[in-house]
Amino acid sequence: MRSVDYCVIGGGIAGLSAAARLARHGETLVLESEDALGFHASGRSAAFAHFDMDARLVRALTAASLPHLSEPGARRHPALFIALEGQEALLDQLETNYREWAPHVERLTPEEARNWVPVLATSDGAISGALLDRDGRKLDAHALLEGHRRMLNKAGGEVATGARATAIRRDDNRWTLDTPGESFTAKCLVNAAGAWADEIAMLAGVAPIGIRPLRRTVITFDVPEGMDVSDWPFTKTVGPGFYIEPEGRGRLLACPMDEGESTPCDAQAEEEDVALAAWRVEQATTLSIPRLASKWAGLRSFAPDRLPVAGFDPEAPGFFWLAGQGGFGLQTSPAMAMAAEALATGTEWPEELRAVGVEADALSPRRLRA
Ligand SMILES: Cc1cc2nc3c(=O)[nH]c(=O)nc-3n(C[C@H](O)[C@H](O)[C@H](O)COP(=O)(O)OP(=O)(O)OC[C@H]3O[C@@H](n4cnc5c(N)ncnc54)[C@H](O)[C@@H]3O)c2cc1C
Repeated sequence: MRSVDYCVIGGGIAGLSAAARLARHGETLVLESEDALGFHASGRSAAFAHFDMDARLVRALTAASLPHLSEPGARRHPALFIALEGQEALLDQLETNYREWAPHVERLTPEEARNWVPVLATSDGAISGALLDRDGRKLDAHALLEGHRRMLNKAGGEVATGARATAIRRDDNRWTLDTPGESFTAKCLVNAAGAWADEIAMLAGVAPIGIRPLRRTVITFDVPEGMDVSDWPFTKTVGPGFYIEPEGRGRLLACPMDEGESTPCDAQAEEEDVALAAWRVEQATTLSIPRLASKWAGLRSFAPDRLPVAGFDPEAPGFFWLAGQGGFGLQTSPAMAMAAEALATGTEWPEELRAVGVEADALSPRRLRA
């Protein structure tokens, strides 16, 4: 049976980014059920980084991550936050939240917002104001994953795809994991299984912490011929509504920001959510969406307090949680990987996290076991 120091379950952004760092401290192996990395949430994301996040902790993790998000995994792209009728107070709150991390944001009038996104409606339900961040980041999930895989391999670590952990037990102070092909033992098991994080815990005889997968839907569609949307900002309503972002010159991606209950699974777009996405875009813009180019859904997984989790289980030695990255798992992955590295290896807490006011306790699974 092969023996490693760190066995990471999950070949999404959480598992890969942490594994790339852990490999500098000991032999590291990533087990991924699917035949490809990023098959679930990480590969289905809208892949944008911004500060319109409810929790200060998430905004702080984003701030610590941005300096690490550069080409080819990320490029600068503007973000525009629009207030629909009745969302003015939310826009004020967003501006306050945003300025702590990005003091350069600009308040725009509806007319100025329309200079950026000319299809924003002027009629009923039209926008009442907007906030522009010229310094958002368009992310590329596959480039990020590939970068981490290369770093992992360079440090001597490995990824096994098509390797679902089917049984997990604790023997002689080590975790033993069975996959259909091979078994492994590890001194530290990192549970980065996304929507399956609680299932992995239960497989290992560890109490779950309440990770809840919620389905989110995306559609893409072509804009009228001759319209070039490639420079349009990522555009999001500050409250319930939708977001759109360019996918090349003539195509937009849209999401109704839905949260459908789901079990951990290969999530599929439901017709009702697809229709809602198209309807919300049509209501707030002059666009009409007669046909779709594509549609998909993915699972965003949340802890009960909707904050991310990184740390050893208080009752199960060597069982490390790296879960609950909700709708911010890509944009916070550099900071979360730094936190996981420090906590799993017992090394110093990163100054970059301390500088933004993030301490280990805030991420600990202990808070969910009260
Ligand atoms: C529609 C949508 C839009 C989003 N937009 C954004 C955005 O704009 N910005 C942002 O930062 N985030 C966004 N997110 C969130 C982001 O995608 C997630 O937070 C992030 O991908 C979570 O990464 P993960 O590695 O935890 O999960 P996953 O990518 O799901 O990885 C978990 C992996 O564990 C594997 N696994 C499970 N069980 C086992 C087992 N028994 N053995 C081996 N492997 C196993 C799974 O196969 C899976 O590949 C979005 C998500 C969705 C769905």
